[in-house]
Amino acid sequence: MVFNIQRFSTHDGKGIRTIIFYKGCPLRCQWCSNPESQSFGYSVLFDDKYCKNFGDCISTEEKAISRKGNHGIQVDRQLLKHPENLRNTCVSRALTVSGEMKSVSELLTEIEKDLLFYREEGGVTLSGGEPLSQGEDLVLLLQELKIRGINVNIETSLHVAWENIERCIGLVDTFLVDLKHTDKEKFKAFSNGDAELVMDNLRKLNDSEAHIIVRIPIIPGFNHSESEMKQMIEFVATLNHVKEIHFLPYHTFGAEKYRMLGIEYRFGNEKQVQDAELGSYLQYAQLKKFHTKIGG
Ligand code: SF4
Repeated sequence: MVFNIQRFSTHDGKGIRTIIFYKGCPLRCQWCSNPESQSFGYSVLFDDKYCKNFGDCISTEEKAISRKGNHGIQVDRQLLKHPENLRNTCVSRALTVSGEMKSVSELLTEIEKDLLFYREEGGVTLSGGEPLSQGEDLVLLLQELKIRGINVNIETSLHVAWENIERCIGLVDTFLVDLKHTDKEKFKAFSNGDAELVMDNLRKLNDSEAHIIVRIPIIPGFNHSESEMKQMIEFVATLNHVKEIHFLPYHTFGAEKYRMLGIEYRFGNEKQVQDAELGSYLQYAQLKKFHTKIGG
């Protein structure tokens, strides 16, 4: 299932790229800027600013959606039976559904619209959510892209079983690996994940000689300190095939989506991280002989 396809992107790899955003992620990073990407199923977003009180959504999902006072609705997402049926019910687009099933051939059709632009340097980036959590269709897509000679990047947290990664080696040009923290407790507390799993997979991926760019999100209150950043850079320095680290400053673009999904945004009071705050991190990484960049 995908939740977005973005054409003509100049991020997440070289040249002009089509980004496929897959739905579903094993982590729950508190700062995640795409909270609608976390669930593997459909997500219902509601923005009361646009609600015109027509009530078509209520008749589609009577048990889960009800009126809220004189204006707007409330959604009990646990009670939704067929959220996909809500996709076109709201003419004012106050209520929308994120997530769409796409076959490999549908994705290829979308990707091939921009073949002309991939010739120089561009290609496809598979993002998410966590693309490596997807089923066998992901490998089929990678095989088809390989046949067509289209450059492929995968943006991943590597928080998946090693087999899910191994099956993609040789089919992916660059793994853009998010390294969030090397401290087990902190990683668990802020993302509900296992830092050891990520580091083990990163070591194995390095040993496979795949092309890897490590990307470190700079998150205030989580890893935005010289000591934590040094720890991470030193870990990456033990990986002989990794030559590049990108630093991704925290931003608050996802805040509205939390409200529309009815989920608490625990980073709501944090300020965006400015590029100027990253000087010493860049310097340290360069001292360790890494090519560095700010941004994806
Ligand atoms: S790994 Fe990425 S998509 Fe998954 S919860 Fe964390 S930030 Fe969001």
